[in-house]
Amino acid sequence: MREGPIVVVGGGPAGASAAATLAEAGLPVLLIEQRDQLGGAIHRQPAAGSENHVWRPARHRRNWAALTARLQAAADRIEIRTQSVFLGVDGEGRFLFDDRRNGRVFARCPRAAIIAVGAVETIRPFPGWELPGVMTAGGAQVLLKETGRPPEGPILLAGSGPLLPALAAQLAKAGSPPVVVLERGWPWSAPAALAGLALSWAPMSEAAAYAAVLAANRVPYRCGAAVTQVEPDGTGLKVSIRVGETQEVLHVRHLLIHDGIEPNRTGIPLPDPDADVPVLLAGDGREALGADAAILDGCRAATQVLARLGRADARLSSDERGLQRARDFQANLARALHSEPIVPAPETVICRCEGRRYADLMALAEDASAREIRLMGRFGLGACQGRFCGPMIAALRGAPLPAASPPRWPLRPVSVAALARLTPDETE
Ligand SMILES: Cc1cc2nc3c(=O)[nH]c(=O)nc-3n(C[C@H](O)[C@H](O)[C@H](O)COP(=O)(O)OP(=O)(O)OC[C@H]3O[C@@H](n4cnc5c(N)ncnc54)[C@H](O)[C@@H]3O)c2cc1C
Repeated sequence: MREGPIVVVGGGPAGASAAATLAEAGLPVLLIEQRDQLGGAIHRQPAAGSENHVWRPARHRRNWAALTARLQAAADRIEIRTQSVFLGVDGEGRFLFDDRRNGRVFARCPRAAIIAVGAVETIRPFPGWELPGVMTAGGAQVLLKETGRPPEGPILLAGSGPLLPALAAQLAKAGSPPVVVLERGWPWSAPAALAGLALSWAPMSEAAAYAAVLAANRVPYRCGAAVTQVEPDGTGLKVSIRVGETQEVLHVRHLLIHDGIEPNRTGIPLPDPDADVPVLLAGDGREALGADAAILDGCRAATQVLARLGRADARLSSDERGLQRARDFQANLARALHSEPIVPAPETVICRCEGRRYADLMALAEDASAREIRLMGRFGLGACQGRFCGPMIAALRGAPLPAASPPRWPLRPVSVAALARLTPDETE
């Protein structure tokens, strides 16, 4: 077995938890994060020079403080490389990283790897979602967390899922409450799921905190309401919505859309705990179960690596019951917020990179394979390689777009100059 460090890719809660657990067990760790600071989606830190910390519930602040304290306590065993992007694994099994700070690619031959690259957002497409002024709620949240500046109002939040009230509360706390939050689901039709949710104390108290902020700022939260179309309207947007059987029109400056999250798997090496160099997934990138579960899952992945390295001495536990509780919570949430799929209008853009529309998707043979959809329909062939449109196509056609198999590097664009300055692993 190789002697290098354990590589952990992703500096969110799962990666931080995995790195701390491994380092506490005495192993050298290389923690890679593409951003300039650790934190991940939920604990994203303000950009350099900005002091604006976006409001987060106290439980999350405490969790992140505990994780960073553990990383600091084990700092002599953890090399943290920020502004470094995992590019993939080359034909010789070397893990390649784009060091964007120094403009060069470097290689490492780890003895094991944990990939904790989080989740990607999904949306349900409607005519006009690709217009300027429409962005994903997650994208808007990143901007808010990094700069402290909310998008220009009036703002409308629409789609489905818990990020909508969370972001609405953060916008309100930042002085720019949305005019309304539209949730497509109708939770009251799933009383058993609601009863199940009520038993999950921590996330429900978090939801209550968001609800209190929305109430204090008079932000309505309307269920069973969906956007059907968006059109340009001067410097803003004319948004058509359907609430039950009625149609309404709202005029806003920004529309923030979101329909849940999915594990970020595009191009990610397939997990193989039994390989010579074991590769494991952790956190939302393995199973989108939320921030608390990501911490548990990072520890689970680290425990599995330690067991694989024969480290029976490590005092570790894998909280499978905690993960199962998170799984049950997400299943109840999905049931409570379930809504029937809406067939998009023919002109609806599906693949933004290649400008392919729903009519183009439907023009393909009904039994077109996922590969035919990609190669003949030109869906998922653009810059995002299906990372964003793939889940939409899977939902509309009932078949996922195939990822390149085996995953090919580079996962992200990298400059030829950086590749030409590749620094090999000195331990090779
Ligand atoms: C857009 C979005 C917004 C969210 N907002 C909230 C919220 O407000 N409240 C809440 O409770 N939960 C929120 N969640 C869910 C919550 O963030 C996650 O459950 C939790 O952060 C998962 O932790 P993780 O470590 O698995 O992934 P993440 O926290 O996503 O961390 C993954 C890390 O990997 C890094 N990374 C990705 N690809 C690479 C690469 N190729 N090379 C190097 N680094 C890479 C990313 O920069 C990131 O720091 C949100 C999720 C998303 C996707």
